[in-house]
Amino acid sequence: MALANSEWLQGSRPYKRISAARFALGAVAIVLGALWVFGALSAVPAVAAFALIAAAILLSGESAADTPADAATVDRGAPAELLPTLETVLAGLPQPVIALDIQGEVLAANAPALAVAPALRHGEPVSLALRVPEVLDAVRRAIASDVPQRVEFIERVPLERWYEAIVVPVALREQPLRPATRLVLVTLDDLTPLRRVEEMRADFVANASHELRTPLAALSGFIETLQGQARDDPAARTRFLSIMQAQATRMARLIDDLLSLSRIELNAHLRPNKRVDLRNIIRQVVDGLQTLARDREMEVRVTTSADQVEVLGDRDELLRVFENLIENALKYAASGKRVDIALFADSARNEARVAIRDYGPGIAPEHLPRLTERFYRVDVADSRAQGGTGLGLALVKHILNRHGGRLTIESVYGEGASFTAVLPLAAAQAKAN
Ligand code: ADP
Repeated sequence: MALANSEWLQGSRPYKRISAARFALGAVAIVLGALWVFGALSAVPAVAAFALIAAAILLSGESAADTPADAATVDRGAPAELLPTLETVLAGLPQPVIALDIQGEVLAANAPALAVAPALRHGEPVSLALRVPEVLDAVRRAIASDVPQRVEFIERVPLERWYEAIVVPVALREQPLRPATRLVLVTLDDLTPLRRVEEMRADFVANASHELRTPLAALSGFIETLQGQARDDPAARTRFLSIMQAQATRMARLIDDLLSLSRIELNAHLRPNKRVDLRNIIRQVVDGLQTLARDREMEVRVTTSADQVEVLGDRDELLRVFENLIENALKYAASGKRVDIALFADSARNEARVAIRDYGPGIAPEHLPRLTERFYRVDVADSRAQGGTGLGLALVKHILNRHGGRLTIESVYGEGASFTAVLPLAAAQAKAN
């Protein structure tokens, strides 16, 4: 049986019924005492009448509340003996769980629940600690209907978090022929990580579609122009075809980067295990980028350790890392005229470090933490003009993570940037395995 809302929130309790009985007995005792004092009643009938009335009041209270003939479930507070068991069971559960009596007062709450709602106190209405109308309504509905309820809600302070609350009415029977005690269990599930992944996935699809649509729109536009007014203009045709080629290359690169990212994510748990000398990798990448460096009138200086700097890695993926980092320096820092690449083995830390330092415009501090996010660019137009996809540094980060390494980025705005790839040395990894 559900209690009225106001009664539920105020936390009416069974002990109030006992207090009422005491009050009635007190009143009877005073009336009988007064009759005896004023001589209207002698002592023996007064005591007998008191005993009879007391028995009648106590028995009627008990039969109404606690002893239905068929031992059915009744609405009453949880007996004190039940609480330790309840607390032990809740303490063993990993997710936040709160047990309430059917007046909505807290009987027990485990540590994860207290982390979500620190104001939860035994014996106090749950509404004081969990001020979430959706959950309080669900508790009321569960009590009224005896049917489990499920609601979702958002906590905005101090940080936005999504929760799911499952409210389950339960009946606990302590002894076979005794009536069961009705309780409500409220389980809270933090849906925030799930929601964030969903949001990221949606953002990613939206970004990828947008990035693909932009060159596609340019290509269709130029095709129309070439079929129309530029049909007989050889100079325009040559110019448009070269732009179309650049757009098609950008699309191909985007698809390539997207596929690489998903392949690397798929293999994120597998550590590459081939010995690779980073000096060869750097040499190969620098040779491959000579034309770009010449076009941008930039000098690339390489300082490598005399000894081999071996890591356990995937050769193609590591080529991709240094291609991206060195190409970025050539694209975005051409004004600095110079790129310094330093490779050395830090044997004290068992790490190989490759630092790519440029002297270009540098990167403002607010962008630094976001540079490795997919599609994040300081200047979108500049990146597109350079044929960028916005995925390069995301790829670098994922590849280094898969190799047990990391990327650090330092920059003084206006004075250039330094991107350092750190990888565990092969010798250290072989020892660890
Ligand atoms: P993109 O395909 O746009 O080059 P990246 O993920 O490789 O994508 O780089 C993200 C952004 O970081 C670039 O768009 C650029 O704004 C910035 N960036 C990367 N490297 C440098 C650098 N050496 N100097 C200045 N800005 C850089």
